[in-house]
Amino acid sequence: MKQMNPMLLRRLVKMLRAGGIEDAELEAKWITEDATSEAAALEIAERRAKHEPLQYLLGTWEFYGLPFCVGEGVLIPRADTETLVDAVLMRMSDAAGQQIADLCTGSGCIALALAAHMPLTQFTGIDISGQALQYAEKNIVLNGAHNMRTECADVLAAETAARYHGLAAVVCNPPYLTAEDMQNLQAEVRYEPALALYGGADGLDFYRRITALWRGALKDGGLFVFETGCTQTSAVRDILVENGFRETEILRDLGGNPRVVLGRNHSLQNHSDVSDLNI
Ligand code: GLN
Repeated sequence: MKQMNPMLLRRLVKMLRAGGIEDAELEAKWITEDATSEAAALEIAERRAKHEPLQYLLGTWEFYGLPFCVGEGVLIPRADTETLVDAVLMRMSDAAGQQIADLCTGSGCIALALAAHMPLTQFTGIDISGQALQYAEKNIVLNGAHNMRTECADVLAAETAARYHGLAAVVCNPPYLTAEDMQNLQAEVRYEPALALYGGADGLDFYRRITALWRGALKDGGLFVFETGCTQTSAVRDILVENGFRETEILRDLGGNPRVVLGRNHSLQNHSDVSDLNI
């Protein structure tokens, strides 16, 4: 609504506070700005007071300065994930013909943020959820991206990885919550798809399987970049090293938590420190 009615705003703040929403003033302001009528604003506030995610209720959310459609069935883009985007942009240059795969793409936020800054590079966002990919497709249009496509496939299946060769990078924010985490989800997160959250008993299933399956899809020197939970970085770095990745690094998010693990794929033959072994 263009015209902000102070009475309505106060009413929304009261409703949100009663539901235990921390930033009631700010959220009430966003809701009134977004809603098309007073009745719509009141309905959103009522649902928000029951801890439905604000992002789903508004229907769009910002990530890396770009707009993303979100709603039931897709993971909401998190600010922490911008660390992964920064990590890639700092290490790669844009090049015609270059290809990058974004595994478990969800809303497509990682691939689209990268695509906006690497217009010559081709991105494929892969996800097993057709519902999530409907959002990714909308977001491609919303952002006017001409260099991203999607594929509905299981990234844990060997036949999916086998379709990709010579990738300059594989980026991935997989489901990584543990069985214990899933028992203690914040009320808002319970509305998000478990498929996008649960990473097996120790949260590491996707890292183990994706690292082993997708290494062969990378070109020599290609970059593998994972987002992880903040307690998982060392374990994920170990997985990369065990699978032959080199130059591994752990990066922190803006909150100071270890968040991103990356490494490079170097075939033994091309690595300078073994070049005199004549293999
Ligand atoms: N970062 C999300 C959370 O804390 C988890 C997303 C994921 O598993 N990739 O809820």
